[in-house]
Amino acid sequence: MQTKKKKIKTVALIAHDNKKHDIVNWALQNKEILAEYKLCGTGTTSKLISEATGLDVKGYFSGPMGGDLQIGAKAAEGGIDVIIFFWDPLQAQPHDPDVKALLRIAVVYDIPIATNRSTANLILQNYK
Ligand code: PGA
Repeated sequence: MQTKKKKIKTVALIAHDNKKHDIVNWALQNKEILAEYKLCGTGTTSKLISEATGLDVKGYFSGPMGGDLQIGAKAAEGGIDVIIFFWDPLQAQPHDPDVKALLRIAVVYDIPIATNRSTANLILQNYK
């Protein structure tokens, strides 16, 4: 009998500056589950999560320098399975068009995307 090898899923992690504290805390609380995934993220977010949790997080460019677009392109190619994106609803971002592009691509390719902590918890608990 052939056993199908399970592909390790990739989770992308992104947070705007006012939400970095939240995503780092969330990552610490979910460290054991996150360890089962391949992780990547925008520059600063990936660095902070990696430092706090000790997990390996592949870093793309910082968001304002094109990191959201890099993750969006990867997602469009099928290389991202889940996106955790704590965007800031209270402050305008210089790279707002890139943020919109990433949100759009997640919908186009039906990629689970969490934009707050409770949805992030739901996705991680149900996605394997
Ligand atoms: P950062 O980018 O993780 O490099 O801060 C996130 C963003 O601002 O989109």
